[in-house]
Amino acid sequence: MKPLVLVLNAGSSSLKYQLLEPDSGEVTADGLVERIGEPVSVITHEQGGNKTVEDLHLPDHRAAIGKALELFAAGGIDLERTDLCAVGHRVVHGGRSFYQPTLIDQHVVDEIFRLAPLAPLHNPANLVGIAAARALLPDVPGVAVFDTGFFHGLPDEAALYAIDRQVTEEHALRRYGFHGTSHDYVSHRAAEFLGRPYDEVNQIVAHLGNGASMSAIRHGHPVDTTMGMTPLEGLVMGTRSGDTDPGLVLHLHRIIGLSVDEIDDLLNKRSGLKGLCRENDFRAVTEMIAAGDEHAKQAYDVYIHRLRRYFGAYLIDLGTTDIISFTAGVGENAASVRADSLARLEGFGIEIDAERNAVRGSQPRIISTDASRTTVLVVPTNEELAIAQAAKVVVSGVA
Ligand code: AMP
Repeated sequence: MKPLVLVLNAGSSSLKYQLLEPDSGEVTADGLVERIGEPVSVITHEQGGNKTVEDLHLPDHRAAIGKALELFAAGGIDLERTDLCAVGHRVVHGGRSFYQPTLIDQHVVDEIFRLAPLAPLHNPANLVGIAAARALLPDVPGVAVFDTGFFHGLPDEAALYAIDRQVTEEHALRRYGFHGTSHDYVSHRAAEFLGRPYDEVNQIVAHLGNGASMSAIRHGHPVDTTMGMTPLEGLVMGTRSGDTDPGLVLHLHRIIGLSVDEIDDLLNKRSGLKGLCRENDFRAVTEMIAAGDEHAKQAYDVYIHRLRRYFGAYLIDLGTTDIISFTAGVGENAASVRADSLARLEGFGIEIDAERNAVRGSQPRIISTDASRTTVLVVPTNEELAIAQAAKVVVSGVA
């Protein structure tokens, strides 16, 4: 059996994990722990066709990873005896220091800690995951794969905020972009699927999940993306507002009297689709629209309007766009979003084929007509596989 990689994605109170073989992508086991640190946590674990769901108290990430290892063992996999070549960690913010997948040592841990103010909700959680893995699997090398990494080379015109340079430079305020692992994976997969050389095509990737972002990639180099200094900028998301007027934030504080924490909560957790119609799950929004709910319809219209605004911007930026890919939960499943966000663009050489767009599946597929100058695709993302492959490359290089 070929070596496996354990991929860990630690959120503030959650942990996603997957044990997989990086060449074939074959998944041996995976799971999700939710509500870590609360009185009752839930672990959902799948291995060998068996699914276990258990309610228990897991006080921290170390306990959560320990429990996952216990379930691996109960299913017949002792990770300490398995040929495990790496633990791959999703790390949200690499700042300017890290953009390549990086072998974790104490210096790297210290640097990720130093970057925590740039991603206060995410980097500390990622570090807890790293510490837990190092304690429980001390002989297995850890590799950090950064969500910002793919956008490291964004050109200045896309990366700089038009704010006093002294302030932005002193505090590293710039547009970093996120979901990089997915944009990287999907754009490579799209070019490969169409048999086109990656560095010869222009692409737009729309990653539409609970979080959502879009990127423009010219000849293999990202030239713009919708998320910025934080994952709050850009598209309308499940619970995040995406773009707003910065003056609105000042108004919320100065005139309405909300505290900074309250504004944070409002824009990150009570906005987006949820803010507009009380539901953040796209399937629920779709059902509400079918039942005639006006707010749900409005939420959908705002979501599509923002998407079209960015499609327009990126089509102009790229000049010629060879490939547009939709990915993640909404992008892969919601045919109406794909059709509506690219409707009436025949004049720009983009034409969706209704029948192809209605097909469902887990493989990349074309949804544009043969006459469409831009090929439009659905490309299922697989961030765990991309992290596992990157981790394997790093540890092979140092072995
Ligand atoms: P992700 O963050 O990639 O897991 O995507 C989560 C989002 O995808 C949620 O809003 C889900 O409602 C949405 N989603 C998942 N499956 C479907 C589906 N079949 N149709 C519409 N939306 C879906």
